[in-house]
Amino acid sequence: MDARATLSDRLADVRGRIAAACARAGRSPGDVTLVAVTKYVSTEVAALLPELGVADLGESRPQELWKKAEAVPAARWHLIGHLQRNKLDRTAPLVSLVHSVDSDRVLDALAAFGNKRGAPVRVLLEVNCSREAAKGGFSPDAVPVVGDRAVSLLGVELCGLMTMAAYSDDPDDARPTFAELRRLRDALRTRTGLALPELSMGMSGDFEVAVEEGATLVRIGSTLFEGMGEPD
Ligand SMILES: *Cc1c(COP(=O)(O)O)cnc(C)c1O
Repeated sequence: MDARATLSDRLADVRGRIAAACARAGRSPGDVTLVAVTKYVSTEVAALLPELGVADLGESRPQELWKKAEAVPAARWHLIGHLQRNKLDRTAPLVSLVHSVDSDRVLDALAAFGNKRGAPVRVLLEVNCSREAAKGGFSPDAVPVVGDRAVSLLGVELCGLMTMAAYSDDPDDARPTFAELRRLRDALRTRTGLALPELSMGMSGDFEVAVEEGATLVRIGSTLFEGMGEPD
């Protein structure tokens, strides 16, 4: 099978699994956006996705995102990894959503960018719900204060929260992490009066549990792209 046919089959499978998880949770599949994480594959493979009906693509490294966003401008690009401030001016204009705001410094720098261009940058706050020392993101305890600050900055539009669960062979182990992110979002929503519609959670190993727990954006890479080559 060629890459396009393989991808088409895998997408159908993932979409079916998202729809089944939605059905279990009484949600509509239209409320969950698949973000295909293209960091494992070439620009050429990434370029197949919009043709296959996937409008949202994600990259964790800014330099990779620059290259692929230039080659695949039809997609909505999502930055899902750490943004170094020296890469911000080149990255922010290319992305529709930054999932990975993981410090006050990045938040302030994005707000300054949004002010300068006269249109806010859409952002999520990354929260370290699994409390792993090696992982970035705000501690859950910091969310109310950082959330208030984000809301006060005119250069960013706070759209919700993002998390990554700890690695495990059992997807159900991720459930408490995802449930906590939703509770944090619900509390921040009450506190700020904003809709904060987005919950970015769930990857290849745990996206069905994430959808059951309220994910609106699932970030899926290896399940779609396994064995489809390397980044260029
Ligand atoms: C790589 C990555 C993903 C995709 O992970 P898979 O397990 O390959 O689906 C999702 N989110 C982030 C932040 C990533 O870096």
